[in-house]
Amino acid sequence: MLTEHCGHARFVWNLAVEQHAHWRSGLRSAPGFAEQGRQLTEARAEFGWLAAGSVVVQQQALRDFAQAMANFFAGTHRRPTWRVRGRGEGFRIVAVKLGDVRRLSRHVGEVRIPKVGWVRFRRSRAVPEAVKSFRVTCDRAGRWHVAFAAIPEPIPGPGNGDVVGVDRGVRVSAALSTGQLLSAPGLRKTEAERRLRLQRRRAKARRGSNRRANLSAAIARLKAREFDRRKDWVEKTSTDLARRFDVIGVEDLKIVAMTRSARGTLAEPGRNVAQKRGLNRGILASGWGRLVARLEHKAPGRVVKVSPRYTSQTCNTCSHTAAESRESQAFFRCVACGHAANADVNAARNIADSAAGRAVAARGGSGLPEPANREPQLLLLPG
Ligand SMILES: [Zn+2]
Repeated sequence: MLTEHCGHARFVWNLAVEQHAHWRSGLRSAPGFAEQGRQLTEARAEFGWLAAGSVVVQQQALRDFAQAMANFFAGTHRRPTWRVRGRGEGFRIVAVKLGDVRRLSRHVGEVRIPKVGWVRFRRSRAVPEAVKSFRVTCDRAGRWHVAFAAIPEPIPGPGNGDVVGVDRGVRVSAALSTGQLLSAPGLRKTEAERRLRLQRRRAKARRGSNRRANLSAAIARLKAREFDRRKDWVEKTSTDLARRFDVIGVEDLKIVAMTRSARGTLAEPGRNVAQKRGLNRGILASGWGRLVARLEHKAPGRVVKVSPRYTSQTCNTCSHTAAESRESQAFFRCVACGHAANADVNAARNIADSAAGRAVAARGGSGLPEPANREPQLLLLPG
């Protein structure tokens, strides 16, 4: 039944995508959430299989889509796309009542899901009080997860005014202006080799065979393990930074636009596609975007985004800016004063200096940057 809920949510979402895909400028606008809700009621009256599912799940898929479109028009997210079976499957339940979540023992909880009943889950952490919504997902390794929505308390900074600059590295995942180099863990050597072996075997396996399905599942489990480790690293690193520093400077990379614009369109193919692709792989692999997002959640108002221009070419000692100073990806040697440093650390120090300047200006002027918007779907779409 959980799989069916996922299927219904995907079906409704894809219908909404299709409606909006047909829309061209000059036409009457594509149906909004209210109109789609009426259409859903009609569709449920007509199709028994849809009516057999949960109306909460289906309505919520429409609401999620409306939020996704709002994010798209706000310029913060890409246009919502088709959902594919078996990839990022999930559904959301809202209007959760007080008795719908309960604790059975230290490690086991239970949640009531429409049309399914009580479902047990392993408590990986405390369920927040008065939870209003939750999301059930199935990852690519076939594991089910339940996530309860809550706005966590921000982590207080040390209060000593310490500023850190964080630069996304190419060799390492992140470099701090303190000189610390951080690497996000991936698969171990033996695991990576195993994945390669599995992938080769899968390439030879017949399409649609059980053997191929088993190999795919084994590969998916390894991928999930890699993803879990990165995610864990991002959580620990962002908490650590939020605790240790009052102001955290990062490059304003507009990473979403950057990673997605490289390929360009058929009419306007992107420039330097190959270089950008290499860079993007590095950024995505190290979970950079996720790290910045989590920092903004945990230290709202304390993350300062600075312009990435010249941070990697400017000497942190004498401020001389020259492309030639960056001897290699890893090494910086100033052509003016001879200052030599790890290239990523030098950049991180420049970022820290800019962030410190911005934070001081903000304190005297209009106040610190706006806190990050934590739960946009709740703010934007009441009821
Ligand atoms: Zn210099």
